[in-house]
Amino acid sequence: MNNYVITKKEANEDFIKLNMKLFSGKLPSIKILIQEHEELWGECISDFDVITGDIKSMTIMINTTYPDKKTYHSVLGHEMIHALQYIEGRDGEHNEYFYSFEEKFKENNLDFYDDSF
Ligand SMILES: [Zn+2]
Repeated sequence: MNNYVITKKEANEDFIKLNMKLFSGKLPSIKILIQEHEELWGECISDFDVITGDIKSMTIMINTTYPDKKTYHSVLGHEMIHALQYIEGRDGEHNEYFYSFEEKFKENNLDFYDDSF
């Protein structure tokens, strides 16, 4: 059961906290969209300029509810890795760079997901 309900305020505050804990504050502020989604736990959507390759916009989508706070933080952190990948001009795969954050997640008592989201 997904009993943990996410509020916009909480998501924005947690983004800032996780940014410090997991990424040394490297991420710029990113719009977080809270949206009911049956198949996805979260998604990082970025829109690139086709000519320059620059990022035009970026949104992290998270679900409205999760089983618990830890799952929610783990998913948000997962999407934040993808955001960092895009910002640094990398691809958004679950590759070696992606896995380089696994230890940081464990240190902060978060689950490290490598499912396709
Ligand atoms: Zn992913």
